[in-house]
Amino acid sequence: MRVAEQTAEKNDIERLDREYTLGTWSRQRDFDPTQIVDTDGPRIITADGDSILDFSSQYVCTSLGYDAERVCDAVNEQIRTVPYVNPGWATEPRARLSEKLAEITPGSLKRTFYSTSGTEANEVAFKIARAYTGNHKILSRYRSYHGATAASLSASGDPRRVAEGPDVQPEVPGMVKGPDPYAYGSSLDPDKSLEYIDEMLALEGGTVAGVLVEPLVGSNGVLTPPDDYLPRLKEIAHDHGALLICDEVMTGFGRTGEWFASTLFETEPDIITMAKGLTGSYQPLAATTVTEEIGKYFESNLLNQGHTFSGHPTACAAGLAAIETYEQDELIENAREMGQYLKSELESLAERHPSVGERRGIGLHQGLELTRSTEERVPFEERSDKVSSNTTVLDDVGAHALDNDVYFYTSVNTIVVTPPLTIGEDHVDEAVAALDEALDVSDDAMD
Ligand code: PLP
Repeated sequence: MRVAEQTAEKNDIERLDREYTLGTWSRQRDFDPTQIVDTDGPRIITADGDSILDFSSQYVCTSLGYDAERVCDAVNEQIRTVPYVNPGWATEPRARLSEKLAEITPGSLKRTFYSTSGTEANEVAFKIARAYTGNHKILSRYRSYHGATAASLSASGDPRRVAEGPDVQPEVPGMVKGPDPYAYGSSLDPDKSLEYIDEMLALEGGTVAGVLVEPLVGSNGVLTPPDDYLPRLKEIAHDHGALLICDEVMTGFGRTGEWFASTLFETEPDIITMAKGLTGSYQPLAATTVTEEIGKYFESNLLNQGHTFSGHPTACAAGLAAIETYEQDELIENAREMGQYLKSELESLAERHPSVGERRGIGLHQGLELTRSTEERVPFEERSDKVSSNTTVLDDVGAHALDNDVYFYTSVNTIVVTPPLTIGEDHVDEAVAALDEALDVSDDAMD
């Protein structure tokens, strides 16, 4: 697609959207969306007829690609029978989805509270952890994104500085941040990151309700922890009276080659939050699943939380059909297999392009961190895409790939490579060829 031409000749829908919609995370003068009119397997089709291979899964959402018939049928059927009742009534899709989530989540995770976004799923987790432990603080990490409302944004330690403006400050009190096990561009010793968190929890004096982490960090640069990190973190959290909350909004539902990244790291979180892949984003649905023990606590204690759309039957029907699709089409196995292939192809890109500092990731949750100096391991831009509307080298690399009809999500100095779980080797080859060309742009911009 030719981005510049597209901007010059906006069609009516793009003009209307530009004029009447407030665009997310942007100055409105920079909000200039391209109209998508159709989809095809892992591709999105623009109004101009460009067919773009989607290697982002749209913020890591459309893991099923765009032709999951079972999900469409389930939604159609449900919407014609019981499209909606309030959460005080039982419906078959909600009951069956809750049972299914108990089956596929690790260990004794059993009971689920539903909401409609990853943000809300985390807010619910905070409330549950606070009620259950009697503590009020949440410890999260500097490189993390947990959502856009007050508490979840305050828990996000995002270097894009989304939480710094006067519109979102002051933060919700009681949020503490610790270091990440991130080696590439940090002078903090990643091997010591757990010791720091242990010490921080001790210094907080038993006031922390939950330690919240993305098991494999997503939009903050696809940070992969050491294998024993998550189980050790759980032990440390428990030693200080805190629960382990795993935010699997991005990593859930097969992305890493297991149902959940917690499973991959052999850890049973006390609370797990999910969204995106739960329905493959055919419907907005999020979930907060807790262990049997925490569930029991609320038998006699008030669960002080509710949403009108909690357990929306049509969304739950989509969730159930999505899980059936992951199972019957063996998409998690495919994520494992294609993940291996993608990883080796990205490794060769990293060898060929000096501006690729590091490849990281597991399964189909991969990322390439860019650098302007191989020796100094520094990013092209000190701060982020959100603090100015200037285009960055990272943006330019993404735009170049898009010119070759492949779309990547770019975030925090990283090209995030997260295709739908339905892809084959030919899709990987097509995406890697586009990226190979695009990375010449960052190579040329190096010091
Ligand atoms: N948690 C993680 C790990 C995410 O990546 C996101 C969104 O990208 C969220 C939470 C927030 O989810 P939502 O945008 O659905 O509110």
